Amino acid sequence: MPTSPSTAASLYDRVRRVIPPIEWPAFTDDIDAILALKRERNAVILAHNYQTPEIFHCVADIVGDSLALARKAMSVDADVIVLAGVHFMAETAKLLNPGKTVLIPDLAAGCSLADSITAADVRLMRQRYPAVPVVTYVNTSAAVKAESDICCTSGNALQVVESLGAPRVIMLPDEYLAKNIAAQTKVEIIAWKGHCEVHERFSPADIRELREAHPGVTVLAHPECPPEVVAEADFAGSTAAMSDYVGRHKPARVVLMTECSMSDNVAVEHPEVDFVRPCNLCPHMKRITLANIRAALEENRHIVTIDPDVAERARHTVERMLAV
Ligand code: SF4
Repeated sequence: MPTSPSTAASLYDRVRRVIPPIEWPAFTDDIDAILALKRERNAVILAHNYQTPEIFHCVADIVGDSLALARKAMSVDADVIVLAGVHFMAETAKLLNPGKTVLIPDLAAGCSLADSITAADVRLMRQRYPAVPVVTYVNTSAAVKAESDICCTSGNALQVVESLGAPRVIMLPDEYLAKNIAAQTKVEIIAWKGHCEVHERFSPADIRELREAHPGVTVLAHPECPPEVVAEADFAGSTAAMSDYVGRHKPARVVLMTECSMSDNVAVEHPEVDFVRPCNLCPHMKRITLANIRAALEENRHIVTIDPDVAERARHTVERMLAV
């Protein structure tokens, strides 16, 4: 039920730098339908920074990293939230908005970090390290969050770890994020062995090759990258921090060592900056498309549900993080 043939057409200016004109007509019918469905259903779309530009810039109402999405989800005045991202993000939106219908367009949109740990694993870590607080990255299931003391994101992990006032903490499940935080604090960090399948593929050799091929390039790395990669970069930070860095410093040429749609989305905002784009795609993020967002709104699928007891305990860990 397209609103008018010109609605999507008027959006093309936003993305012409990253979507070739020949590809654009394939998106317009779904964009028009989604914009109309959002009005009909009083729905909003939350899109992670790793979503493709036609989603991020043309149908999303709220965009950002997982912390921004978690925060902004709380002030949403809508009946329906569609999460254009992966499953743990949809669970987090549901935790913070229990009265709203939260939809994820593809139930198989998972995450290698979230899949690396279970609630039983957290209980075992607690047995092994009694009285040591457990800090859990938001990239985990609600069941894992429910067994933890507090959540963190890559944007606030250092602050959260230091807020506990403990000499050592267990930090789950991302080994590299834990090691990158350990390098910045006196708090002893006990890590798990989870990895992001996108960021673990970057190596220091990649950075050296990029610097040789593109002299003067500024290298920004996500803290889910191995510590040796972070050490070779000019700056390390969450997706929001990388985006801020580009806005503030306006480097002539930059490379973002993270999921590749992020470069497209930031490039749209900064036409004066030249982006070098090594492309590591997240296969889970890429399961979300305009077509399945449209189907989610048309067919009210897939509704995210969480066991009430798990939800109560998991919500507490996310709210405790938001209060830091
Ligand atoms: S980019 Fe990595 S951390 Fe993010 S959803 Fe994909 S696998 Fe998970």
